[in-house]
Amino acid sequence: MTDLLFTLPEPVTIPVKGETADYPVGRIFCVGRNYAAHAAEMGFEVDREAPFYFTKSPANAVLSGASMPYPPGTENFHFEMELVMAIGKPVFRATKAEADAAIYAFGCGLDMTRRDLQIASRSKQRPWDLGKDVESSAVFSPLTPAAEMGEIGAQRIHLEVNGEVKQDATLEELIWKLDEIVMDLSKFYHLRPGDLIMTGTPAGVGPVVAGDKITGGIDGLDPIALTITDAE
Ligand code: MN
Repeated sequence: MTDLLFTLPEPVTIPVKGETADYPVGRIFCVGRNYAAHAAEMGFEVDREAPFYFTKSPANAVLSGASMPYPPGTENFHFEMELVMAIGKPVFRATKAEADAAIYAFGCGLDMTRRDLQIASRSKQRPWDLGKDVESSAVFSPLTPAAEMGEIGAQRIHLEVNGEVKQDATLEELIWKLDEIVMDLSKFYHLRPGDLIMTGTPAGVGPVVAGDKITGGIDGLDPIALTITDAE
């Protein structure tokens, strides 16, 4: 084995319901504006032209139950509750059948966002990285195999801050359906096991402050929690 000058942190791995082995996090893709009411609250109308994406570094993944300090460089740190799909098979330019077969498991996710920096970058036509690729900002609950979830649609997706409901919708409201996302994203990437796709957030996003406890859930999946602690 090659000697290394230093060691990197171990990759994050996510428990899977009914499995003894964890799911290692490879890449994290995120879909933007995938619920009409959220697009509207961000000042956009929904179009069905094509989905769009951004990414988060796998190094910024944490498991549900974590605490994170209020991050530097923002005064408007937001929660976004999302359905996460975990890819379980290599797939490139997927057909609908291949896309369905590639979805291995589902989980709850939080796409924590420096909203002020995201909006500032957007208005200057610059990339979103400072707004989106925040340390500890990709939070994942344990995964549930796709077969156990059944048909996606009627399940409630919700998020609370200190017990108060802030986001409350159903997966029926997803604009781009899960197979459509896999079909489209696999035109640009060779998707493979380890790839997580955060599928977008419903309306009701908002800020948190140090001391807040975020909880969320999707019917049929393990819930998610994150505590915001004092800034470092
Ligand atoms: Mn998001």
